[in-house]
Amino acid sequence: MFENLSDRLGGVFDRLTKQGALSEDDVTAAMREVRTALLEADVSLPVARSFVKSITAKATGAAVTRSVTPGQQVVKIVHDELIKVLQGEGEPDTLRIDNPPAPILMVGLQGSGKTTTTAKLAKRLKDREKKRVLMASLDTNRPAAMEQLAILGQQIGVDTLPIIKGESAVQIAKRAKQQASLGGYDVYMLDTAGRLHIDETLMDEVQAVRDVANPRETMLVVDGLTGQDAVNVATEFDQKVGVSGVVLTRMDGDGRGGAALSMRAVTGKPIRFVGLGEKMDALEAFDAQRIAGRILGMGDIVALVERAQEVLEVEQAERMMKRFQKGLFNMNDLKNQLEQMQKMGGMQSIMGMMPGMAKMAKQAEQAGMDDSVIRRQVALINSMTKKERANPDLLQASRKKRIAAGAGMEVAELNRLLKMQKQMADTMKKLGKMGKGGMLKQAMR
Ligand code: GDP
Repeated sequence: MFENLSDRLGGVFDRLTKQGALSEDDVTAAMREVRTALLEADVSLPVARSFVKSITAKATGAAVTRSVTPGQQVVKIVHDELIKVLQGEGEPDTLRIDNPPAPILMVGLQGSGKTTTTAKLAKRLKDREKKRVLMASLDTNRPAAMEQLAILGQQIGVDTLPIIKGESAVQIAKRAKQQASLGGYDVYMLDTAGRLHIDETLMDEVQAVRDVANPRETMLVVDGLTGQDAVNVATEFDQKVGVSGVVLTRMDGDGRGGAALSMRAVTGKPIRFVGLGEKMDALEAFDAQRIAGRILGMGDIVALVERAQEVLEVEQAERMMKRFQKGLFNMNDLKNQLEQMQKMGGMQSIMGMMPGMAKMAKQAEQAGMDDSVIRRQVALINSMTKKERANPDLLQASRKKRIAAGAGMEVAELNRLLKMQKQMADTMKKLGKMGKGGMLKQAMR
């Protein structure tokens, strides 16, 4: 869907996330590349400009450049901004089709996929919302278009208004309205005539139909492959007939995808659906989160940073990182880690999201490292003295007995905890030896 844009952005972010520390210049240079990538994807210039301005401001802050994982923070910032551009500020709205029979007016240029989309949407309303739908084609100039809708209707099991030769678009609209009321339909859809270009006659006709039907929704169908043209078409239709939502078709192709990014920002109109193929079920509700994920192709990193941000103070993480790099890892560190894990939703969920950690998560699960185990381990550490926590080597038999008893547990359980701390300390030492930017940083990335 957004292959080129994804590839370009992926390249930019790969370099950023591999880099470790970031300067403001690094970020600014990366943002320039983001801007070029957006323009190449045919995003409109003002949108690309304001997008980059907004992310640059956020991404060059100290909290990002000095954080442990600056590259990832930048990805997250871009991700959030993409969602904002895609869906605007408000909540995504749903179709207003209460009050039966609710009219939906379908408008757009010829060849945009309007008839196909009318049928796809009718099928969706029928299957998912159990609505009784009536479709009518108003394309009096093209009998083939009327036939096409009738055939699609049969195929998906949705009624179409019988074709009567010689009627005008307005007459058909009136008949559809009447039929929808009499027949007890929930929704009736009017598939208006398209033209190759926007012209006066077409707009007059659509306006006349609109005034008769008084539609609850006017859905504009535009070809997503046409980039900025799609946005221009949307602006014109909105000015002339008023549009309530947009369907972007042919998003299954390897088009440049810019239309999706500019649409909301330029026209103020929400994209409601995207067409993903010729088949009748190839219509997807527009979900800014999902689209942003597809554009970045980095959903997991974003989710990880999101959760980590909720619980991790950046400064604290930096301090910990420094200790680890020196190969220091005592019971306080272990406790810290265990508590972070608890907050972040348990061991498995954290490790599962880290590249290369999925296997370790599985081992932890097999070893019974669930959250209740973590709680017990923290209780054991709490039962140690300050000195013992800082230097676990002090723990001989008598101290062990006291600590285990204090936590209401067996010495064997304490031994397991000690073994784990030793293993982790060893690992940290090895990783630390590889220096800054070594494996530890890799693993955190
Ligand atoms: P209309 O003239 O606007 O009514 O356009 P049609 O509905 O007749 O569609 C024109 C062509 O585009 C048909 O061959 C459709 O199958 C195709 N089409 C429509 N929507 C999509 C889509 O989302 N993806 C792809 N790949 N083709 C589509």
